[in-house]
Amino acid sequence: MAKKKTIRTIPQERTPMREQDPLRRARNFEEVACGYNQDEALREADRCLLCPDQPCIGGCPVGIDIPGFIARVAERDLRGAYEVLTATNLLPSVCGRVCPQENQCEGECTVGESLEPVAIGRLERFVGDTALREGWVSVPFIEPVRRRVGIVGSGPAGMACAADMAKAGCEVIVYEAFHEPGGVLKYGIPDFRLPNPVIDAEIDKLRALGVQFECNTLVGRLFTLEQMIAEMGFDAVFVGVGAGYPSMLGIPGDSLNGVLSANELLTRCNLMRGRDFPAFDTPLPAGRRVAVVGAGNTAMDALRVSLRLGADKVHCIYRRSRAEAPARAEEVHHAEQEGIEFHWLTNPVEVLGDGQGNVRGMRCVRMALGEPDDSGRRRPVPVPGSEFDFEADLVVYAIGTNANPIMGQTSGLKLNKWGYIATDDNLATSIAGVFAGGDIVTGAATVIEAMGAGRKAARAMKAYLGIRDAAQPYREEGEPAFLGIAAHERNFTRVHLA
Ligand code: FAD
Ligand code: SF4
Repeated sequence: MAKKKTIRTIPQERTPMREQDPLRRARNFEEVACGYNQDEALREADRCLLCPDQPCIGGCPVGIDIPGFIARVAERDLRGAYEVLTATNLLPSVCGRVCPQENQCEGECTVGESLEPVAIGRLERFVGDTALREGWVSVPFIEPVRRRVGIVGSGPAGMACAADMAKAGCEVIVYEAFHEPGGVLKYGIPDFRLPNPVIDAEIDKLRALGVQFECNTLVGRLFTLEQMIAEMGFDAVFVGVGAGYPSMLGIPGDSLNGVLSANELLTRCNLMRGRDFPAFDTPLPAGRRVAVVGAGNTAMDALRVSLRLGADKVHCIYRRSRAEAPARAEEVHHAEQEGIEFHWLTNPVEVLGDGQGNVRGMRCVRMALGEPDDSGRRRPVPVPGSEFDFEADLVVYAIGTNANPIMGQTSGLKLNKWGYIATDDNLATSIAGVFAGGDIVTGAATVIEAMGAGRKAARAMKAYLGIRDAAQPYREEGEPAFLGIAAHERNFTRVHLA
């Protein structure tokens, strides 16, 4: 029998991940982190204590059986590990790379109380990448149910909903406004963090399930949600259009040439391939001295993209301190290694012009941290008389995004006071048969949360359409029943008798 592991018997050091040299990678778009090989993965898997209470699972927004998949990695059963992961997570290669694990599963890991936590994300990526390399696809036996489902938006929320509805036997059509599917994974997150071939391979898996993609289709302008239900033959629709409408600061100089949103910079660079100009016909404003405002993941991406596009100096301006930066810890660390200059506790007050409509610099004020605000974080307050100017020829705002108003303007969807789609607990909207999830419901969140919402909406959609959900028991233990039929089963019973 295998000896029980303890905190003292496991490898004490977290297995490092090989990375491209910072100076070299700061000038190319190749992936920064190289991933584990089999030996590295086995060593790291050996650090998992397989705790009976499994606190890491509670830290994962979709509740992946983390010890279950790590145990299979340790047994070298990688296909088994992949099956465990994909029972809950459609995109292990993606989530292993971009989830903020330090605040999620790894933040709860028992090992982390004494040593560095088990590198759960890196192991997840290792299994996901092995599956992509080996071409593993879990295509179940699919029995058609003669239901047609429309998905609006092809980000992680839409992809997850599409996969579950296709597996349930529905005809699924995904409409995407851009010319390629993938949402933020494709247009926002750059290749050096999440290579496009990884996303393309995941989208191919959806195609293998029978999901159809119709790109260059802006729903709300070409046709409305109501038309999808009433005229286009859809029995149900999922809206996962994200929250990509950028915020501007509203300070003097906002409209000068050379001020743009991070989403515009990233979309031009990544999806429109502006970084390969002139081979691709997308103009991209190239700054020599770039200032990016914000310190979330989007800001880190804009900073590091600017460096790779050839800027001499790239500054990050953030009004709070490093400890409050919302970006993944690894991204801030990588940005620092690459030579980004961070100006913590600094707030812009004006973008300065050159008198001909172009940006020439920025005026900022130093900040100090005051009392905690509603978010629990200490409120930054300006330090009187601390204004200073510095030179910049490109200013990029990465201070958050909002809901795009198109869906609300063109349909009868009920919105909340912030303009996001209002849903009930099961993600049903105010229009019968229309469900919504991801950033368009919660506001900007994370990939795994959007994916979890897509799956939750799919469960509600199946109940609405009267499709049996294999994951749902006929009757929960102790659930009251009438004539042997549990309350949540009545809908199915009626459909099957009809
Ligand atoms: P999205 O991914 O935004 O996808 C929505 C899709 O709907 C888009 O493709 C859009 O073109 C399409 N669409 C919009 N309107 C219409 C319409 N009317 N008709 C048809 N299609 C439409 N999260 C992390 O967990 N880790 C990270 O490291 C991370 N980094 C990020 C970096 C950047 C630059 C950004 C912007 C976000 C990042 N996030 C990260 C957040 C994460 O990407 C989002 O929370 C997630 O993608 C939301 O998924 P979604 O499916 O709701 O929407
Ligand atoms: Fe393994 Fe950490 Fe989860 Fe315990 S908490 S089962 S050590 S990953």
